[in-house]
Amino acid sequence: MNTSELFNDHVMATYGRFPLTLVEGQGVRVRDDAGREYLDFCMGIAVCSLGHCHPRIVNAIREQAGKLMHVSNLYFTDNQGLLAEEINIYHVGLEGKIFFSNSGAEANDGLIKSARRYGHLRPQANGKPRFEVVTFKQSFHGRTLGSMSATGQAKIQQGFDPLLPGFRYLPYNDIAALEDAVKDETVAFLLEPIQGEGGINVATKEFLEALAALCKKYDLLLMFDEVQAGFGRCGDPMAWRVIAPDVVPDGISWAKGMGGGVPIGCFWLSDRSVDEKGAKLSSLMGPGSHGSTYGGNPLVCAASLETLKEIREKKLSENATHQEARIRKEIASWKLPVVTEVRGLGLLLGIGLNPDLIPVSEGETCALKVVKTLMVKGLLLVPAGPETIRLLPPLNVTDAEVDEALAIIKGVLSEFSTEPIS
Ligand code: PLP
Repeated sequence: MNTSELFNDHVMATYGRFPLTLVEGQGVRVRDDAGREYLDFCMGIAVCSLGHCHPRIVNAIREQAGKLMHVSNLYFTDNQGLLAEEINIYHVGLEGKIFFSNSGAEANDGLIKSARRYGHLRPQANGKPRFEVVTFKQSFHGRTLGSMSATGQAKIQQGFDPLLPGFRYLPYNDIAALEDAVKDETVAFLLEPIQGEGGINVATKEFLEALAALCKKYDLLLMFDEVQAGFGRCGDPMAWRVIAPDVVPDGISWAKGMGGGVPIGCFWLSDRSVDEKGAKLSSLMGPGSHGSTYGGNPLVCAASLETLKEIREKKLSENATHQEARIRKEIASWKLPVVTEVRGLGLLLGIGLNPDLIPVSEGETCALKVVKTLMVKGLLLVPAGPETIRLLPPLNVTDAEVDEALAIIKGVLSEFSTEPIS
């Protein structure tokens, strides 16, 4: 039985998988079960920030696996403390505390729970807790009940109602829509500074600043979902800082790239004081309020610590900015009508496609058609929405590797007719 048959028989069909079985990877390349090599600019959807099997991560895992893989969070472990310190001091640069989860969705659930706690501490005028978290259309926050309910896309929620109550979705980047957004029960805003799954939409500086001002005015928490964009991918350790450096969030969630390939996520809460006695926001999640058996275990923290140190020490966020400039320049030089625009920041980039120029089969989007064609040519990418293909190379990608990928993309996009499909 081959692998796809095994999946057919035994694995739930929740993903529309490509007909490709990957067996090994090194750096920016992966190999399939037939020995064919691919340039991987998907990187586990922004997970493998140092490429595949980076020696620093591999060594950390090997060493830690032979020493101590897992113990309960009822004990202290050095790696978890060191990783939290690395994140707080060198990446966030603001005083706060961290809770470790296993994924981005769980990290967002943690932020949502924190917002609800804050709503109990600072209730409505009638004494009832505030609980509503306002999010944005086209957002993606995950697939747990909480994070799915926070997600502003009906297609993600379809068939799972009733959703968790207490969410409302506003149009992204629409400052005017913020005016009447705050209700008595509203306690927080949660947003991606750069929407990933929703099509690579970058928040404007004015929008983030307006939100921050609104949060201050109405005593709301400002929470950023940096699960896909964080830790160097967008040209700064923190994605929101590339856009609006003066904005200070109350909470942040991360996952994906922070582990370099191991399942880890976390959320951060500010140490700012929230009452007259000086209690910290982060202290709202006190003993018994939250937990995870695996969250932040010694094995994943060892891998994540080396990943984040490598990103910091090698200044890989600067490489993200350098490569973004090269990619934008090269794509602009093609002058291909099928390319509508390049969106995004650093190495979270989307190439917008003109659907009128790309013939598709029934039920297929033009982004999927292009991604499938690129795969045949030896390049792995993923769509971001129906009309955008997404570039997510590792943060240490070289000029030569970027050039190689761009040459494949140019070849494929040039194949599509410059005349609209009749
Ligand atoms: N938030 C954002 C912005 C994401 O892009 C994703 C995943 O794509 C998630 C949350 C969910 O993360 P996970 O799949 O690790 O639960």
